[in-house]
Amino acid sequence: MGAKSGREFLQRLDSTTREVWYGGEKITGDVSNHPAFKGVARSIAALYDMQLKPGLRDVMTYESPTTHEPVGTSFMQPRTKEDLAKRTAMMTAWANYSGGMMGRTADYLNSSIMAMAAAKEFFGKGETDFASNISRYYEYVRENDLILTHTLINPQANRSVGPSKQADPFIAARVADKTSEGVVMRGARMLATLPIADEILVFPSTLIRSGQDDAPYSIAFAIPVSAKGLKFVCRESFAAESAYDHPLASRFDEQDAVVVFDDVLVPWDRVFVLEDPDRANRVNDATGSVVFMAHQATVREAAKAEFMAGLMTMVAETIGADAFPQVQERIANVLLTAETMKAFIRSSEAGAKVSQWGVMTPDYVPLNSAKNLWPRLAPELAAVMKQTGASGLMAIPPEGVLGSEVRKDFDRYYQSKTADAEERVRLFKMAWDAVGSSFGGRQDLYERFFFGDPVRMASAYYAWYDKEPYRQRVKDLLHWRE
Ligand SMILES: Cc1cc2nc3c(=O)[nH]c(=O)nc-3n(C[C@H](O)[C@H](O)[C@H](O)COP(=O)(O)OP(=O)(O)OC[C@H]3O[C@@H](n4cnc5c(N)ncnc54)[C@H](O)[C@@H]3O)c2cc1C
Repeated sequence: MGAKSGREFLQRLDSTTREVWYGGEKITGDVSNHPAFKGVARSIAALYDMQLKPGLRDVMTYESPTTHEPVGTSFMQPRTKEDLAKRTAMMTAWANYSGGMMGRTADYLNSSIMAMAAAKEFFGKGETDFASNISRYYEYVRENDLILTHTLINPQANRSVGPSKQADPFIAARVADKTSEGVVMRGARMLATLPIADEILVFPSTLIRSGQDDAPYSIAFAIPVSAKGLKFVCRESFAAESAYDHPLASRFDEQDAVVVFDDVLVPWDRVFVLEDPDRANRVNDATGSVVFMAHQATVREAAKAEFMAGLMTMVAETIGADAFPQVQERIANVLLTAETMKAFIRSSEAGAKVSQWGVMTPDYVPLNSAKNLWPRLAPELAAVMKQTGASGLMAIPPEGVLGSEVRKDFDRYYQSKTADAEERVRLFKMAWDAVGSSFGGRQDLYERFFFGDPVRMASAYYAWYDKEPYRQRVKDLLHWRE
């Protein structure tokens, strides 16, 4: 029990039966050695190992309230601002490992179930004791140090109507039956990043609201990825063999999958919300889950902005482009982005308050602002990288050139102001992988959408933001008389 090692994670990964479809190939075992998953599996293992490293252990773990063993800090229900700061330090350590390129490190969803379990009364009692279910589930995940994926969105069949009005009412996953053992789910959800997780959470969207017609779709539950009838249909892998050619894709391609529920039985003790649109609409906000997910996401985004600033600074310096004011200005903008994200984190922690559930909860105003600003700023980071590297981002011949007869030409014509040819190309390959390769393109899409559609998020932000104090100031000046 307690915080696990990377080796234990890899053993668990390979011994879990799951139905992962990669094109026509059904991957059922030895997942950790499959070309699509090898790199990311080792990266996740390295994150697990960080928890047990002597110098990091105090930050990465805390004492389990039930077993008194060390367990991952992202499971900690913070009671004080010091607890919150420890959570941030832990999440920063994991985010820095991949330069913010991994969105589904375990802390993202650990934070969500941590908050939900603290707010267990919200789930209430219905056909089953939902409150006890979420609480027990959180403890189970914490004590076994599992890694979760999640899926919140219905398939993109016809977005102009809700799930109940689609051509086929079973396109979106919904309750098909209820038995003495549990709820039977049929249909699909889109999308789940990291199909090599241990368990999948199927929860309501943080953004899209359901009406009464959507009751069969208004459900929250968790099941192991080995559940019978559960299928993950993967996209093409962006993982690459060569760490020289694809320094990021070879290690951090988390993979994304559509999730199919072929009459999957969800045992009663794994159901948290059932056919309850009202509760489903409120679950993320009322429990504080969305705040803690946003906290983790902002920490990762700050780490990514810092990494990207470092990468483009090195690209510019390598070719002497750092001497030009427009290059300096663009990179300065990226540094401003990094500082803005860090300021949001600090501000959210400074304004943290104990919630009705007894949890020290960061101020959501800065975090919701970060959530809305990041999808607008992140594409700019990629643009600056391209503007800085220019054609150098295409002067990146595959690794084979190093042992070829054009090596002499390579050494001569690819050298740069501060680096020899091999080192310069290595750096530019990383820059391209971050913003332009298939992996880089997916990064761009991820940052634009992972927390929801930015257009609807902005409308929700507008409606939610307390604008009255600002209105009042205008009113005061409007009617000002000397
Ligand atoms: C790389 C990647 C990884 C992801 N990983 C996960 C994951 O692990 N788990 C998970 O749950 N989700 C994941 N997502 C999905 C993410 O939650 C969604 O992308 C996001 O919620 C937006 O939904 P959508 O993609 O279905 O876009 P859609 O809702 O289909 O939107 C498509 C377009 O139509 C517009 N639009 C649609 N409906 C409306 C409307 N009612 N009003 C106004 N405009 C509208 C949108 O603005 C957008 O331009 C991932 C997404 C990406 C890109």
